[in-house]
Amino acid sequence: MGEAPFYLAQGDECALFERCHAQRLAVLLKGPTGCGKTRFVEHMAWRLGRPLVTVACHDDLAASDLIGRYLVHHDRTAWHDGPLARAVREGAICYLDEVVEARQDTVVVLHALTDHRRILPIDKTGEQLAAPPEFMLVLSYNPGYQRLVKDLKPSTRQRFVALEFDFPAPAQEARVVQRESGCADSDAAALVQLAQRLRQLQAQGLAEVPGTRLLVAAARLVAAGTDPRTACRVALLAPLSDDPVLLQAMQELVDASF
Ligand code: ADP
Repeated sequence: MGEAPFYLAQGDECALFERCHAQRLAVLLKGPTGCGKTRFVEHMAWRLGRPLVTVACHDDLAASDLIGRYLVHHDRTAWHDGPLARAVREGAICYLDEVVEARQDTVVVLHALTDHRRILPIDKTGEQLAAPPEFMLVLSYNPGYQRLVKDLKPSTRQRFVALEFDFPAPAQEARVVQRESGCADSDAAALVQLAQRLRQLQAQGLAEVPGTRLLVAAARLVAAGTDPRTACRVALLAPLSDDPVLLQAMQELVDASF
């Protein structure tokens, strides 16, 4: 089965997730971009010995992209399961990443799967797929991002147990950054300290603060021999903003750190 994907727990989320799986409860992972939600699901799928089916949601995602569709083959049409139908049949863990991006009518297809019925109706074939006990639905959601534009409907939210995520505490985050990149401990610690300062810039208009993912990317460049200031500029600052004033403010923080 290979090695477990590395995940440094922040609290009792692993035990809680296992209980949700055993109790057939759907789970909503709340937290900022790049804080470890996807890695957590990969780790838990490995621990539970279930296949993982991941769907990156976007604003064009239609219900048929999840459920499936008829496709024409030469002279006949054949049904093709979408990722959600496949996950239900396999008793997999189905992870819908950034679900607020998906259209509301798409999200509604999840409702019958997340209450006592645990079924996926496939209107086009007339099938009602009953989810086996091993099947689990997991959604991720970034509460800060585009909050005013998009949000999950309360009637959807109330169908999930919500586990809250945040960036790990500095010492833990440095461990993650070091382990994921192979950089020196001192570089990992300096990057995390810098991230703490950059995250305070949200009040000054930074739309998204740097997640652990960006720190890992910068650390990998450093571990590969890149000068830390350059690594921070290309992997940490430039992806976050195009605003020259903000970039300058962030560059000053970088220069003070390395
Ligand atoms: P999210 O799904 O929340 O956007 P990811 O799970 O993709 O974020 O995390 C981004 C990267 O950060 C991962 O690929 C991993 O390298 C690292 N990471 C963040 N938190 C952890 C953690 N607790 N344990 C291990 N790796 C982590």
